[in-house]
Amino acid sequence: MTALNRRALLGGAAAMAGALSLGGMPARAGAPFRNSLPPAWHRFRLGEYEATIVSDGRLPLGQPEPAFPASPPAELRSLLEAAFLPPDAATLEQNALILNTGRQLILFDTGMGESMGADSKMFGPTTGQLLNNMRAAGIEPEQIDLVVLTHAHNDHCWGLTDAKGQRVFPNAQVAVSEADLKYWTDDNNKRGPDFMKVFVEGAKKNLSAYRDRLVMVRNEQEVAPGVVALATPGHTVGHHCYAITSGNQVMVNTGDLAHHHILLLRKPMWEFAYDTDPKLSAQSRSRMLDRLATDRLPLLSYHFPWPGLGHVARAGDGYDWVPAPMNLSSLG
Ligand SMILES: [Zn+2]
Repeated sequence: MTALNRRALLGGAAAMAGALSLGGMPARAGAPFRNSLPPAWHRFRLGEYEATIVSDGRLPLGQPEPAFPASPPAELRSLLEAAFLPPDAATLEQNALILNTGRQLILFDTGMGESMGADSKMFGPTTGQLLNNMRAAGIEPEQIDLVVLTHAHNDHCWGLTDAKGQRVFPNAQVAVSEADLKYWTDDNNKRGPDFMKVFVEGAKKNLSAYRDRLVMVRNEQEVAPGVVALATPGHTVGHHCYAITSGNQVMVNTGDLAHHHILLLRKPMWEFAYDTDPKLSAQSRSRMLDRLATDRLPLLSYHFPWPGLGHVARAGDGYDWVPAPMNLSSLG
């Protein structure tokens, strides 16, 4: 717009405002800000199945350098800036999948919940929204038949129970890998970084409430019809992705294969602070990203920008995140 045009437009608006006031309209205060967010859920068809993604809310990591300890700080900042992201604060989302197979209602990961009280808010007050968003999507926790865990970290399994340790999903079985079950309920693993103590305490509290209804996840085997576990160890010893097939459609729920859609896709060998075995995690990430890109498979990533649906495409030594278009009539 030229300066002349802009002046003409602004002049026109001023004249219009003058005309309105001349008409005797009373001056009004502006509408109040609502300061609230819409419920965060997204629904689409996957073959014969119906998929709903619900958010547990944002998970801010704060300064990115400590979260990605093996990365050169200057390179890390320039990658964030090139993606128009703040270089001094990394933020993750939490995208949980609910799959209705027609026979079973399956929730993949539970968010942070409230079971560990103040520790549940260790990443800030924005987490713990899963139940609200699930209900807004028309799904009650009593309806969940099976909870499938990608791994037993706080932001994935602490929503299994409430603050009193009661089951939030009273009719659900819980599928978890034997490796993660053993590791995260073993008091010997409270050593090491500060967070290990509360991570182990939280996993014990949440998983023990379902001790009589646990299902062991095994690599390359189904946990439900069309849902195949794919071992991707390193972030935790028993981390699994899940390939979901229905009709002629496939989607891979990648859990915490990669936490950041820029940093760990452009640089798959960079490490993440909460990895149990960072080197193995990087190997699993590289191997699975190669397969996802080669086979052009759609995926859901737990921590990528809401709602976490898209593809990975090769770009140099790494990958680009290509988000799926949000289609308001995607049930068609
Ligand atoms: Zn996570």
